[in-house]
Amino acid sequence: MACLCPCMRPQPEPSGDGPREPTPAPPVVVGEESKLLPKQPHGAPAATGSVRASAMQRGKWLDESDDLARSCFACGVEFGTFVDSRHHCRRCGNTFCAKCSSGRAPLLLFQVTDPARLCDACYPEAQADNEFAARHLPRLTRGTVGQARPSAFAMAAEAVLVRLNTAGDAVLVLNADARPLRTVPLADVTGVDEPAGGATLVVREATEGPFSGGLKIDCGTAKEREGLADALRAAARRARAPDLASAVERDRAKQKLERRRQMSIRDRLASAEERRKSNSKLRDSLRDKYALSSR
Ligand SMILES: [Zn+2]
Ligand SMILES: [Zn+2]
Repeated sequence: MACLCPCMRPQPEPSGDGPREPTPAPPVVVGEESKLLPKQPHGAPAATGSVRASAMQRGKWLDESDDLARSCFACGVEFGTFVDSRHHCRRCGNTFCAKCSSGRAPLLLFQVTDPARLCDACYPEAQADNEFAARHLPRLTRGTVGQARPSAFAMAAEAVLVRLNTAGDAVLVLNADARPLRTVPLADVTGVDEPAGGATLVVREATEGPFSGGLKIDCGTAKEREGLADALRAAARRARAPDLASAVERDRAKQKLERRRQMSIRDRLASAEERRKSNSKLRDSLRDKYALSSR
């Protein structure tokens, strides 16, 4: 049975009334975002290159020939008998019946701005992704200008630009010459403190030494501090969560194992039934042979 989705991407979308693959938007480019900064540290050149903002990839598109594509990944209904329509979720890439993939939302982290088909599990996750992409990512990619003390031992604060690296998995603290004073992997961030009063925040790391005191950044205003602190916390939470593509592969392996288990139970039951029927036939033939009455 043909899948209703444009499965063999990147083939062109079939014409007519079929579903359409959402339009990709241009990737976020740090250099362009940086032009929006009110003030760059003296002489700091704008960074360039696309940001893999969340260091995240969509789930691999499940191939039609895969055994898993024969039924809905969520409710298990088999395609082709009573349910004809099979659809791919644009986030996890698994196949679903129409009922289990009724949600639609843009996928801003993956540069998809038109509403895309989503399974019931991915729909709330996509909302959270979009919230991160709209609220925090622009600030993290364009950077925040401030003053930083890389550690408690630093003699003086330096003018810096604090922004996400190109891979999207670490925060860079760049000095006026655009050299990184510090690189903080997001997965290592254990907390972001906002000491009462002032505009300074403190980034705490799992690997920091006992006397480090954390990375101190003066953001200039309390409002800037609040925005950067929220963005760093959200980015750190995402960095610690399992990445989407691997989680999808793990779910598929689990589901394959479960289906094999169900199949072997069905096979055992079927062969037991087969044996019962054959024994019954044998009994009947013996009765006929020896003219015994059946009881
Ligand atoms: Zn379903
Ligand atoms: Zn999904």
